[in-house]
Amino acid sequence: MEITILGTSSAIPIPGRNLSGTVLKYENEYVLFDCGEGTQFSIRKLQLHPSKIKTICITHLHGDHSFGLPGLISGINYSNKSDFLTIIGPVGIKELLEVSQKHQQFFADFPIEIRELDFMNQPGIVYDSNLYSISAISLNHRIPAFGYRFDEHPKAGKLDVDLAERLGVQKGPLLRELKEGRSVVSETGKTIFPSDVLAEPKPSKSFSYITDTRYCSRSVALAKGSDLLMHEATYLHELKAKADETGHSTAFEAGTIAKEAGVKKLVLFHYSARYPNLNPLYREAIAVFPATHMGNDFETLRIE
Ligand SMILES: [Zn+2]
Ligand SMILES: [Zn+2]
Repeated sequence: MEITILGTSSAIPIPGRNLSGTVLKYENEYVLFDCGEGTQFSIRKLQLHPSKIKTICITHLHGDHSFGLPGLISGINYSNKSDFLTIIGPVGIKELLEVSQKHQQFFADFPIEIRELDFMNQPGIVYDSNLYSISAISLNHRIPAFGYRFDEHPKAGKLDVDLAERLGVQKGPLLRELKEGRSVVSETGKTIFPSDVLAEPKPSKSFSYITDTRYCSRSVALAKGSDLLMHEATYLHELKAKADETGHSTAFEAGTIAKEAGVKKLVLFHYSARYPNLNPLYREAIAVFPATHMGNDFETLRIE
């Protein structure tokens, strides 16, 4: 599982910092979190494949997180079409795309499902496939905003083929039954249970994406135990009053959320343009949560 950050700037793009957009690569498909202006260009610059985007999760409708959406959909249509696209976001996203489609005349020759979210006080599943699920929860911003969490479905542990053979199960359909979690009867008439031949399942990997919110206890509930949390850090804590007024978090608060949620790693982004040097934000966050990393544009992080 890989996370590629396309933009780390809040509000406006500045040289070296684009607007919000993060690609999660899992198996052979992508999930895109937010789609600020320029997202399509960054995707192409990094030679990612737009048609591999199967799900787009938009945190909220402010332009720095959504202005890139019509362009990206139109671009997917131009080059290598998608077979199916699901777009998840706050109420209003459907109307926004319909108006844009009508007046800007962009087309998508592939099915698009739009799922609109209402206020969610608890984390709830908003997307589920055979590979992974995505949950969402309401954040605390100036307009309705949602945090998202990606959870890989648990995978069965590795099958010990030699052991299965010694227990009288030969290669073939019976091995597949065991691998899929069903018990079988061996050649000698003995029942073999999956737990006899399967190693412990690997822990599922998880990723949380939280941006454009004041400090919020719901963020902790969503990110609980995540392998990686991307959290906004728009301001230093000395500008806490401004953060509250504009519906944002400070680096100190991002570190506090990571600590309270017990995540393995925190990656900060969505920096105010007032900070050309990010070291003060970094110092503030690591004082609370040592496993902090300052996210950079076009950086790829692996979740092992
Ligand atoms: Zn923003
Ligand atoms: Zn916003």
